[in-house]
Amino acid sequence: MNFIDLEKQQDAIRENLEKRILRVLDHGKYIMGPEVLELEERLAEFCGARHCISCANGTDALLLSLLYYGIGPGDAVFTTPFTFIATAEMIALLGATPVFVDIDERTFNISPGKLALCLKEFHDGSLPNGKPAGALKARGIIAVDLFGLPADYAALQKIASENGLFLIEDGAQSFGARCHGRRACSLGDIATTSFFPAKPLGCYGDGGAIFTDNDSVAETIGSLRIHGKGSDKYDNVRVGVNGRLDTLQAAILLEKLSVFPWELEQRQMVAGKYDEFLSSLVTVPYVPDGMVSSWAQYTVIADDRNRYQDRLRSAGIPTMIYYPTPLHLQTAFRYLEYAPGTMPASEYSSTHVFSLPMHPYLTVEEQRKIFDAMSTR
Ligand SMILES: *Cc1c(COP(=O)(O)O)cnc(C)c1O
Repeated sequence: MNFIDLEKQQDAIRENLEKRILRVLDHGKYIMGPEVLELEERLAEFCGARHCISCANGTDALLLSLLYYGIGPGDAVFTTPFTFIATAEMIALLGATPVFVDIDERTFNISPGKLALCLKEFHDGSLPNGKPAGALKARGIIAVDLFGLPADYAALQKIASENGLFLIEDGAQSFGARCHGRRACSLGDIATTSFFPAKPLGCYGDGGAIFTDNDSVAETIGSLRIHGKGSDKYDNVRVGVNGRLDTLQAAILLEKLSVFPWELEQRQMVAGKYDEFLSSLVTVPYVPDGMVSSWAQYTVIADDRNRYQDRLRSAGIPTMIYYPTPLHLQTAFRYLEYAPGTMPASEYSSTHVFSLPMHPYLTVEEQRKIFDAMSTR
C-alpha cells in the first residue's frame, strides 16, 4: 500500500498529460510559456483570488511574500512552530526573528487566543522564549493551514488589523480547502501554496504559487519573481530572485487541475470513512463548522502511537509522523533559545500524532485493512 499514490492518478490522466507535455516540446517556450499564464488564470479563478503569481516552489512563495513586505533584521514575524521548516525558515533567512506562537491542540493550527496573548506580552516587552523583545518591531503573521485545514482567519484577521500586522496564509497543504464558503489561498492578505508532488495539487517537480486580491502586491511580486524586472527583462527596478515556475510543470498542473475537484471529493469520502472506522481507537481529525479540509494528511492522535505504527508496519501499511520535532526545538532554531515546555500543545502533538495513507484513490477495502491492522492485538 502506498502512503500517497501518484501512480494511480497518472494512470487516470496519462494520455492527456502526454499531449500537454508534447505541446510544450512543440512550441519550445520552456520559460514563461503560454501554459504558465493559462495556469495562473485558472488557479486564481479556482481560489476566487484576483491574482495568481506562479513560482518555483512553496518556499519561494513565502520568500517572495516576505520580500514584498521588506522583511529584514529587526522585524518580528509571528508563526506556528508545528509546521514544515520552510514557514519559519524564510523569516530567519531574511534576518528577521520568527516568534513562535503555540497551536490549538484540536486543529493543529496557530491559536488566535495564544497569538493575542503573545502580542500583548510583546508590546509589554517580552518574547515567548522569556527574552526581552527589545527594539524588535512586530510586522506580520504567517498562519499555516496544517494538514489541509484552514486556520481561523476570521479571528486572525481581526488580530492582524488591530495590531497593524500583515497576514500571510501558508496554504502549501490546503489548496482546495474551504473556509466559510471561501477557498483556501484566498484567506490572508497574501496566500502561498506549493505544488510539490505530494501536496493535494502536485506537479512532477517543484512548483508553487502566490495569491492576492491586491493589484500592486501582484505587480511587485511578479517583478520580484523575475530578478526585480521592470517593464523589460533587462530593466531591473528592485533586487529579486529567479523564482519562476517551469512551463512543463504548468502544463502538468493544468491537466491535474482538470481532475482536482473530483479528487477533493474523493479525499473527503476517504476522510469520512476513516472517521467511521477509527474514532473508537484514536482521536480523529477535528474539522470546525464551516471548514472543509483538503486532506493533505489524515492525522490522528493516540496515546500509544508506536503500538499502532508497529501493527500497521507489520501489515505492510506505511505511516508518517508530521512533525516529530516542533520548530522551536529544531537545531536550526537553537539560536532563538526556546526551552522545551514553552509550546506545550505543539510538543504534545509532535509526540502523539501520526498520519495514515491518504490520497483520492484509496479504496474502502484498503481502509478496512488499515482498521483491521490497528484493531488486532
Ligand atoms: C511543503 C510546505 C512548504 C514548502 O513548499 P515547497 O514547495 O516544498 O518549497 C511550506 N510550508 C508548508 C506548510 C509546507 O507543507
